[in-house]
Amino acid sequence: MDCIFCKIAKGEIPSTTVYEDNDFRVIQDINPANLGHCLILPKTHAANIYELSEELTGKAFMLAKKIAAAVQKATDCDGVNILQNNGETAGQTVFHFHIHVIPRLKGDDVKLGFGSFKTDSESIAAMGERIKNNL
Ligand code: 5GP
Ligand code: ZN
Repeated sequence: MDCIFCKIAKGEIPSTTVYEDNDFRVIQDINPANLGHCLILPKTHAANIYELSEELTGKAFMLAKKIAAAVQKATDCDGVNILQNNGETAGQTVFHFHIHVIPRLKGDDVKLGFGSFKTDSESIAAMGERIKNNL
């Protein structure tokens, strides 16, 4: 399998690593939304959050907290977004699980609006039930 993030995570391709342990490598995004934009990569391949083990998913988000704090201090940013895309429709372009940690500055050019889906309270409640029944 030819996965660029596998190669980066395992150190086969050099990267701007800011953190590494047995399970993860954290690098700087090559095309950052803002300076300091980090990517948390597991060293084992999983295309998305569904494929990643619960244990590694938990560790990945704990690491996101640590990286977010370091990014905030390093950049003195006004806010931090933690994002994780699954599937092309959700904006995923590299199909190896990763978490984005993005520093945000007042007036920056990052666009992350959710839009607004037209619905009603009954549909919201019904969907809530469906989600509950799939846990
Ligand atoms: P996605 O859209 O899949 O959530 O995010 C993929 C991210 O990986 C993008 O922000 C993109 O700039 C970054 N990226 C893609 N290829 C490389 C690479 O070879 N090196 C680094 N450091 N980042 C990459
Ligand atoms: Zn991979």
